[in-house]
Amino acid sequence: MAIYNLGSINADLVYRVPHLPTAGETLASTSLSRGLGGKGANMSVAASRAAARVVHIGAVGEDGAWAVGRMLEYGVDTRSIAVVDQQTGHAIIAVDDAGENLILLFPGANHAISETQIAQALKDAGPDDIFLFQNETNAGAYAAGIASRQGLRVAYAAAPFDAAAVAAVLPLLDILVLNAVEAAQLEEATGQTMANLPVRDVVVTLGADGCRWYNTDAGEAQHFPAIPVTPVDTTGAGDTFTGYLMAGLDRGMPMAQAITLAQRAAAIMVTRIGTADVIPDLKDLEDARF
Ligand code: ATP
Repeated sequence: MAIYNLGSINADLVYRVPHLPTAGETLASTSLSRGLGGKGANMSVAASRAAARVVHIGAVGEDGAWAVGRMLEYGVDTRSIAVVDQQTGHAIIAVDDAGENLILLFPGANHAISETQIAQALKDAGPDDIFLFQNETNAGAYAAGIASRQGLRVAYAAAPFDAAAVAAVLPLLDILVLNAVEAAQLEEATGQTMANLPVRDVVVTLGADGCRWYNTDAGEAQHFPAIPVTPVDTTGAGDTFTGYLMAGLDRGMPMAQAITLAQRAAAIMVTRIGTADVIPDLKDLEDARF
């Protein structure tokens, strides 16, 4: 049992600024910190911290060895991460004193993942495994096609949202995870409600309202209230949720139980500042009072 995650790996460069710059303005930043980020890396770290075996499929540049090293430290199998002749993906994030932010995303190596690399990474994968992907790399549809043919459970976190990308993979999916904004965008693009999508399990996360699970066999959607906490930083909550959800399913949990596990991890995550480096592990969940 393993989770094969085709996903982005980014350096999150966080610049503190007195205010967000306007067009043409030159502004001095008061501090800079670099952390591991990217939806893909975040989800791999989350699933690994939930004790799943995670094989990350992705790419970095020559400047990305530290990011791969960080993932390895968190227990992710990094052997299917290629080093390519491109810069490692990065996000330039300006955060002002009011907590408002502005983000510039450079995909770089995340868009240079080869089909050969994907086929090689998935060659021993089968029906006991899960294939997970998002929308920050190239070749998602190609990889989902291979995974589906080899009988893996195919799960997609449709973020950042792109109607054409979702439409291309919808028939291949077993599990779809979206936030409320993405769900509304998908309903508008397809003219179908969540309950009518041709995907067996659809999970829509609703921030402080928890999440809703649509299962085509059950018919009725089921709502799971969030665990009440005081949030300080919701960055990475969705990625932590999805990583833990996959880990729970990979361990054989029924969906409702995996959702409960995922919500506990995400609730801890919103009480912490940062992304991949502060994703809770199972011990943190044990220690939590909920
Ligand atoms: P992000 O992009 O910030 O990572 P997202 O928009 O993908 O997040 P959300 O729907 O905001 O995802 O949150 C994912 C999950 O995190 C929720 O389903 C819930 O379990 C948990 N969560 C988010 N915000 C809160 C909160 N304020 N209190 C408790 N749990 C929360």
